[in-house]
Amino acid sequence: MTPSVWLNSLCMSKILIEGVFKGQRVLHLQRPCDIHITENVSKALFDHYEPEYEKGGILAAYPEKRDGKTLLIIKEVIFLKNISDNPGNSYLPANHEISITLKKAFDEQFLPITFHTHPTAHENPMMEIIYYISGSDTSKQDQLVSYNAVKVCNQSILFPHSLILALGKSKNRMFIGFYGGLIAPVEFETQKNEQMQKAMNIIFGNISEWARKGNNKWWLIGGGLVFILLIIRYHKTALPLILLLAAMTPIFINDPCAKPKYFAQLTKGQVTIEIP
Ligand SMILES: [Zn+2]
Repeated sequence: MTPSVWLNSLCMSKILIEGVFKGQRVLHLQRPCDIHITENVSKALFDHYEPEYEKGGILAAYPEKRDGKTLLIIKEVIFLKNISDNPGNSYLPANHEISITLKKAFDEQFLPITFHTHPTAHENPMMEIIYYISGSDTSKQDQLVSYNAVKVCNQSILFPHSLILALGKSKNRMFIGFYGGLIAPVEFETQKNEQMQKAMNIIFGNISEWARKGNNKWWLIGGGLVFILLIIRYHKTALPLILLLAAMTPIFINDPCAKPKYFAQLTKGQVTIEIP
């Protein structure tokens, strides 16, 4: 099958549909879309993540329709060399390497999802947590780059992009998110705030339910006072950090019942991320 015949078949099966971006006709994926990251790929991403440098490349996404839903199965990671002068802070692949990989994609019938990583290294593991949390969103530059269409067979196609980062040198947790491509927001903040709200409601719901029972509310008030006194007595300077970490806890809470939307956090193994 030639690339143009394959592209045609993707449009016929409504995996790709037509849209308009900045007055131009473009093709993009049809929502809802599930993106499945296989175990091999998740392992490769963990193994090759470098906490000191930005890395990037292409995720090879094999498309199909399942129960009327677009499904992309990511079976391979292709790393492209970072030629940026400042690899600790930016990712820039060489044009010829991109062209070769795009050609390979349409010859071998997979969709190219561009990804890059953000570094999280610091000598203090506490700072690595903060870098992990603050780095798990797109920069203005990332958002601009995500608006670049891929040109194949006289067609412009907008694919979502992916942001990946692991937690410091321990790499015991990984954030994988998909943004842009006219099917997802170009940032993760909105979705994170929604999750935070949900997590807070669950936490406060549990506490207030517990507090309603018998004398529990006095334990709660007493416990709170003791906690505050301890902080004031011993860790005055640590208070802002404690509050910051408390506010960020929802990012460490994985709701086991819900399928992750737009981004997921994993410790290992495969995952399916939904773009609703
Ligand atoms: Zn970035």
